[in-house]
Amino acid sequence: MEKKQVPGEDARHRRVNRLKKGIVLWMLLPVGLCMVLFYRVNALSRQLEDTQESLRQLLETVEQGQTSETGQDTVPQPSRTESHVKASIAGAEGMEGLADSLKVEQEIPEAAHKVYLTFDDGPSKYTEDILDILDTYDVKATFFVLGKEDEHSIEMLREIARRGHTIGMHSYSHKYADIYGSLEAFSADYYRIYSYILENTGIQSTCYRFPGGSSNTISDLDMQIFADFLEEQEVVFYDWNISSEDAGRTLLDVDALVENATADILKHGTSIILMHDAASRPTTVEALPEIIEKILAMEDTEILPITEETTPIQHIHKSE
Ligand code: ZN
Repeated sequence: MEKKQVPGEDARHRRVNRLKKGIVLWMLLPVGLCMVLFYRVNALSRQLEDTQESLRQLLETVEQGQTSETGQDTVPQPSRTESHVKASIAGAEGMEGLADSLKVEQEIPEAAHKVYLTFDDGPSKYTEDILDILDTYDVKATFFVLGKEDEHSIEMLREIARRGHTIGMHSYSHKYADIYGSLEAFSADYYRIYSYILENTGIQSTCYRFPGGSSNTISDLDMQIFADFLEEQEVVFYDWNISSEDAGRTLLDVDALVENATADILKHGTSIILMHDAASRPTTVEALPEIIEKILAMEDTEILPITEETTPIQHIHKSE
């Protein structure tokens, strides 16, 4: 029996068929996408594993290199290179870690011995001589200055800044009895020296050296009070671990100053050398070229200005 052909049924069949094909196609599309994504994720995770592995090997190489260095009595500090590698492994899950690992080869390893030349009590009539000597050897230093308002001092203060050295505060008045008399007196003096530097150079100084050092025996008040005040201002104070002894009652000769300033450098990872930029200290200027030459000749040693990255040397330590 022949089925009776209903008019329009053929067209309906074709529509249903098209619809079916469409549905199948729409179902296949996400499945295909999933497969592509699955493949991509797999490939990326393999790449990540490879990167982690090569970073691990790199870190091992860096560590082996460090342990095989000569056993000087230095404070062990992780080099910038090593910390970058460590950061890379920790962050290897993200692109940040990969970006960091690319930096590894560009970084120059830090010297084992960092030396900071510091000059207190300036500006003085010797400031320009000191600056010229530093320029000759292309080294930067740190000047802990006082509030001197005469024209020459201000000109020298600006010159220190212009030649790229660090300017630190050493109090405005340098009068122990005044500044260590009370926290009010200390903070008033602090704001004066801070403003003096800012107004004349545009620099917001972030480092301070206490007159007499933080371990001075002149202050009747606990120096920690003043140290806490500086911390509130986000200012770091720096004492010294090497003294040239250029500020004693008797003026030392060049040989003695050179010996004092350089003898112990290789014992430290960070050496902050105390010197003076003062009218009464001519031998400091005379000794400076030899001091710098001697330091530059030392192996794995560099001369740097104090920055926020400098490890502070502090005679008193914050109590818990
Ligand atoms: Zn001083």
